Amino acid sequence: MEEQHIEEVKSFKELNICESLIEACDRLGWTAPTKIQADSIPHALEGKDIIGLAQTGSGKTGAFALPIIQALLDEKSPQPFFGCVLSPTRELAIQISEQFEALGASIGLRTAVLVGGVDMNQQQLALGRRPHIVVGTPGRLMDHLTNTKGFSLRTLKYLVLDEADRLLNQDFEKALDDILKVIPVNRRTYLFSATMTNKVKKLQRACLRDPVKVESDSKYSTVDTLKQQYLFVPAKNKECYLVYILTEMSGSTMVFTRTCDASGLLALMLRNLGFRAVAINGHMTQANRLGGLNKFKAGDCSILICTDLASRGLDIPAVDMVINYDIPSNSKDYIHRVGRTARAGRSGVAISLVNQYELEYFLQIENLIGKKLPVHPAEEEEVMLLRQRVTEAKRISHMKIKEGGKNKRKGRGDDDGDEVEKWQNTSKGNRGGKTFKKSRR
Ligand code: AMP
Repeated sequence: MEEQHIEEVKSFKELNICESLIEACDRLGWTAPTKIQADSIPHALEGKDIIGLAQTGSGKTGAFALPIIQALLDEKSPQPFFGCVLSPTRELAIQISEQFEALGASIGLRTAVLVGGVDMNQQQLALGRRPHIVVGTPGRLMDHLTNTKGFSLRTLKYLVLDEADRLLNQDFEKALDDILKVIPVNRRTYLFSATMTNKVKKLQRACLRDPVKVESDSKYSTVDTLKQQYLFVPAKNKECYLVYILTEMSGSTMVFTRTCDASGLLALMLRNLGFRAVAINGHMTQANRLGGLNKFKAGDCSILICTDLASRGLDIPAVDMVINYDIPSNSKDYIHRVGRTARAGRSGVAISLVNQYELEYFLQIENLIGKKLPVHPAEEEEVMLLRQRVTEAKRISHMKIKEGGKNKRKGRGDDDGDEVEKWQNTSKGNRGGKTFKKSRR
């Protein structure tokens, strides 16, 4: 069963949206607020700055447009140049201005769209009509602020930085800085971004005051019942840290590696240390893969070591813990991996072992999920006590793989799956053989 997210659906009325705007929403077919709207509008109406982690399609435009229009309606007479929305592209700017005009139709809300590639004179005429909301790309807006006589944003009350990550990717930083210098410091600011990059965080610090953070129902988010941690480890000691975690934690575990070879080697090494581990990867025959998987499902093995490829398209049950032995270079793989645990409202743990070469990948993952992960506590001295045994187990595993290769060439096939079979058979009556930690075996 997939996780279910049962939430009370709020109405626009419950969010304290005024009657005329509820009618405008109705006309657009917006019967209930989207998650980002429900989460952000109450804070926005309280006068808070907002930082929203949301993609296009989440209803983020409504999330910032509705509170701005409601504030405009609260004015004795709707004030021109009340709000300014900065967007990274011309198309998005036009869409935003259309939504503002549709929602504010009852008060004859006017917008001006200031984007590159369009005649400046036409835009100057639009500015001459004293629009309530200006929507534009930073470069062209700054161009008008510098060169269009009589145009200023000195009375601005609301600034929106939409798709901030894209704004910053498109060399708008200088124009943004210049705009921030000529608009009032005393204003409300809403920043929306699909990802929280370091640049976005810097921008947030520069122009938001004590913001409330809200998130859309992103398909890239992870569930709250999932405890996610990382451990920064030197590449040469990764195996020791893996063994350390497997020793201190119990329950069914999936360990993800980048390559098939690494998954096979780790499975052998762990078995040499007395763990009940099995590998499934693309180098194994389908029969052996299924065999290993069935052992894991039946609880005969408590540790499944696999690659991203092998984990897809196979019916793998929910597990207690996911360990990212290698950090995926594609951040979305991280979401797939950790989604194997903490399903259907249950709790789960995901621990990522990050070495010096994987830091960049890990930071990308944190950006994607929109949060900084805490460190998993580990006593380095205790970890290092394992080194000798781990090194020896690894040496034996390498030897076995070499022997397996020779046997294969001689026609005596022996892949990791066959080795698992051998181990399963011999270990049945010998569970107390190689002791490591009872809980894992
Ligand atoms: P956005 O993420 O702002 O680009 O919005 C994506 C689409 O969702 C647009 O077509 C909006 O008209 C629509 N939309 C926004 N809010 C709602 C809502 N509360 N109910 C239904 N559709 C909405």
